[in-house]
Amino acid sequence: MSLRLLKRVVGTFSFRLNLWYALIFTANATVLFLIFYVLLVIGLGRKDKEIIEARLKEYAAIYQSGGLRSLNQWVSSSQEQQKSFFVRVVDRFDTDVLLIVPQDWIALDPGKLRIGSFELQKPVLRIPKNEEEELVIGSIRLSDGSNLQVGRSTNNRETLLQPFRRIVIAVLTPIILIGVIGGALFAYRALHPVRQIVATARAIIDTGDLNSRVPMRDSADELDELARLFNLMLDKNQALIKNMRESLDNVAHDLRTPMTRLRGIAEMALRAKPDQQAAQEALADCVEESDRVLTMLKTLMDVAEAEAGVMKLAIEQVDIGSLLKDVVELYQYVAEEKRMVVILDAPERCEAVVDVSRMRQVFANLLDNAIKYTPDEGKVTIHARSEQSTVVIRFRDNGIGIPAEEQGRIWDRLYRSDKSRSQRGLGLGLSFVKAIVQAHRGRAEVSSKPGEGSVFTVSIPK
Ligand code: ADP
Repeated sequence: MSLRLLKRVVGTFSFRLNLWYALIFTANATVLFLIFYVLLVIGLGRKDKEIIEARLKEYAAIYQSGGLRSLNQWVSSSQEQQKSFFVRVVDRFDTDVLLIVPQDWIALDPGKLRIGSFELQKPVLRIPKNEEEELVIGSIRLSDGSNLQVGRSTNNRETLLQPFRRIVIAVLTPIILIGVIGGALFAYRALHPVRQIVATARAIIDTGDLNSRVPMRDSADELDELARLFNLMLDKNQALIKNMRESLDNVAHDLRTPMTRLRGIAEMALRAKPDQQAAQEALADCVEESDRVLTMLKTLMDVAEAEAGVMKLAIEQVDIGSLLKDVVELYQYVAEEKRMVVILDAPERCEAVVDVSRMRQVFANLLDNAIKYTPDEGKVTIHARSEQSTVVIRFRDNGIGIPAEEQGRIWDRLYRSDKSRSQRGLGLGLSFVKAIVQAHRGRAEVSSKPGEGSVFTVSIPK
């Protein structure tokens, strides 16, 4: 494996995850082993101590009842097993008055066994014999001030514990190895969706192709959920980018017409013979065209501001009925020109908390559309109703209607249906309506049938 590949593997999340897993596993196993080890050491020490203490008590009782002679007799005449015990009595002047050393200890340097009299501050004393054995000695003070010491040859702890350690290492090593390999495979498999997300993101960055998506599996764990949300985010971003491109194209296209017209008027006025009257008419046309461009830019900015949630609304308690009345009066002349009937049906008091001038623009846009897209002699009904927490306003017309497939798109900026091209308009009215209504935390909806008419409904919280 090359150094770079090794560095890459070591730097991966799955490697680190696996390392953590192995470390925690090894630490747990080691702690368990240490607990067992310590318990074993304590257990072995306790067993030695109990044997020595029992023997000390027995010999002390014999000494108390029969003196040194009895003890000497007892120990000398006892079984082979007893002879494996070290027995010593040291008098008050620290002189050995009895010393029985087990057979296999005689060869040992007697100096090593001269331990003087000692009290049981330490429960037992351990004197090493060779690599495997040691003498465990306990002591007790007798009533005449002498010191009785009893010892026993035993395998040292190292000899007893070594096989245990060997077994633990022999069992633990393969378990840790299996754990590490199993963990590596598990981590690699579990992180598969993450690798796919990375690959998809890299593909989009490298190629700029926004159609790449993370392949989905059938399971529903957190990582699959992440992949699903990642795909959803890509879908939304793609739609947004498409929308932005379309909006930009539309703005460019829609601005070109008035700007070309404006240029044409100015050019013609420049070329013509100086004529005060004609020049004034040309300037008036120029003002009209530039107003059109300015209105379009202003509405676009308003919509963007409202959609971004940064539009400042001068909110106040308003009677929606009178606001609608103002708007209807404003359009009375246009309606009469088309011999249309506009009926307003609003209750006496129907209040909501809104920005008056913005809400007037919303109602004006909806009424303007209703009149615009309804043939002559048609009928528009505006119906306002106060509900528990909202005020609902409906604009119903019996005009041309909107095909179902267009109903979702009419709210987009600069969208105009082909049929409406013959009418004046910028394609911004409904996107403005929706943005302003949503800025008031309300809802704007449409239901319509081509040839029968449309109903636009606005609900605003009270
Ligand atoms: P426009 O300036 O074209 O009126 P809008 O955003 O106000 O722009 O409306 C978008 C489109 O929705 C219109 O082009 C038209 O096709 C459709 N529309 C809006 N209101 C009505 C209505 N009352 N009846 C039929 N179609 C409508």
